[in-house]
Amino acid sequence: MTWLLRLILVLLAFPVMAETGPGPAQLDLTQSTLIAEGRDRGRPRPLELTLALSHPVPYRVYFLDEPARLVVDFRQVDFRDTQPSALTGNTLVPAIRWGRFRQGWSRMVMELPGPYALTFAAQQQTPVGALLRLRFEPVKPEAFVTRGNSLSALWDLPQPADTPALPGPRGDRALRVAIDPGHGGHDPGAQVGAISEAAVILGFARELTEALNRAGIEVVPTRTDDSFVPLERRMTLARAGAADVFISLHADALPEGQAAGLSIYTWDPSADDRALRQLALRHDRDDLLAGVDLQGTDDEVAGVLMDLARSETQPRSEAFAKFVASELNGTAISMHPRPVRGAAFSVLKSPDIPSVLIELGFLTDPGDRANLFDPDWRARTAAAISSAVVKWAKDDATRQELSFQ
Ligand SMILES: [Zn+2]
Repeated sequence: MTWLLRLILVLLAFPVMAETGPGPAQLDLTQSTLIAEGRDRGRPRPLELTLALSHPVPYRVYFLDEPARLVVDFRQVDFRDTQPSALTGNTLVPAIRWGRFRQGWSRMVMELPGPYALTFAAQQQTPVGALLRLRFEPVKPEAFVTRGNSLSALWDLPQPADTPALPGPRGDRALRVAIDPGHGGHDPGAQVGAISEAAVILGFARELTEALNRAGIEVVPTRTDDSFVPLERRMTLARAGAADVFISLHADALPEGQAAGLSIYTWDPSADDRALRQLALRHDRDDLLAGVDLQGTDDEVAGVLMDLARSETQPRSEAFAKFVASELNGTAISMHPRPVRGAAFSVLKSPDIPSVLIELGFLTDPGDRANLFDPDWRARTAAAISSAVVKWAKDDATRQELSFQ
């Protein structure tokens, strides 16, 4: 995609950022078309898709391979009463599918007769709504640019056809918590003598899993042994497991000048604390060394969409962090003087799953270290976190129901 096209997409996306009010846009099939240019000689032809919407929505476009597909993600189009087979020109391509794939997001997938490239994308405001026009032209296979897994943290979601409509925030299924024991494999985390953070945390994660299971909560683990799991993969595993909340567990080395005690972090890219920045670098280090550029994974449009999604998720993460702090407080677990803080820890970047990172304590602090090796402390901490999950989920469900009304 050229920089100009990217710029156009960004400019288009920004003015509608405030338009979260009108709800999902309706698709007007009578004004929507797929047309092919030129005469049919049995070869792929340039295609132009026009979708008439009741109001402009943020969207993004990309291609997938095997089979070649055009994917348009919208925030949000109501496809419920529309059939792709009713779109004029739908037979020009092998298949079109659309639908909601998760709350707040809709997706259109168009199978293509070969590799294509996007040459034009614009969303025009009209007196009755908006027209989204996409033009794409056949290209040689080597010029086919598809989205790899760089945005998997947000986008490796199931195809709409495979996704049953979600009945509400959670329906009747059991609560699901992603438990993410930090570090592992060639990254032992903090080390004090023969003790490694990766091993201590894995032990605690097992105890926490048991406590959650006893409370009827399902656990989606990001690692269950001493193996290295990249940060982005951890978020992807949580999403694939349909986790309702994500808890990353750590017990790092104490950065200079930082008070000891348990701390709970939520995502805050602007957190300006030298010690926290050092910690964030430490958490990200091995991914950076492995060549995963965590800064570069969001392109501009995705960034806008992620910010939108995050603006809904962030208060939920913060609410969960407060529940954890309050339950731990009630169990007399000693915490940092400011137990709930923001930090730019990349593993908390999931835009759609409330996420916290619990620094159980610092292995370098003798008091914290003693706690981490005290079975009673661990049991009380696990029970408090489990109880916080239950209370938060109840509160969160009530809030989400209210926001639907
Ligand atoms: Zn750590």
